[in-house]
Amino acid sequence: MDCKRAQKLSEQYISGNLPQEELPEYLSHIKSCPVCRESLVTDYSIATAIEQLNKGEDFSVDYSNEISQKLIRSSQFLVHKRRLLYVKRVVIAALLIVVLVLVVGSATKKTWYYLPENSTESLRLKHYGIPQDYDPVWVEISELNNEAVAKLRELASLGGIPDE
Ligand SMILES: [Zn+2]
Repeated sequence: MDCKRAQKLSEQYISGNLPQEELPEYLSHIKSCPVCRESLVTDYSIATAIEQLNKGEDFSVDYSNEISQKLIRSSQFLVHKRRLLYVKRVVIAALLIVVLVLVVGSATKKTWYYLPENSTESLRLKHYGIPQDYDPVWVEISELNNEAVAKLRELASLGGIPDE
């Protein structure tokens, strides 16, 4: 920001109408440029004195100190705003992580499948669908398997499996 622009913005700054997005650059110029700072003090003194005169108020004791305080408050406001933005980002990031953990957690959750009543072992599968769902395919496979085993046992008890 050049001096011409800064001094133009000083008027808006004094009246409190400086757009927030202009504030960081304006403040950094005023801090680093003694000419514009001096000009700001003068402009502020005149504007405030006129306002006080119009309102019938007493004149300030130290206009220079007043504008310094105003500049400090503006700087603090910017720091506060930056901090708030940082906190906001941290909170959003934390929420995203929580959501991600929940989504990944529920997607990889192992589900118990219902098996036929007479089966001795439960079957545990990685499952990406509806939890605790009745799986007719697995039930059928298990039933067929149980039937086959029973048939083999029956044959074994009769003295061995006959040749086909
Ligand atoms: Zn300047």
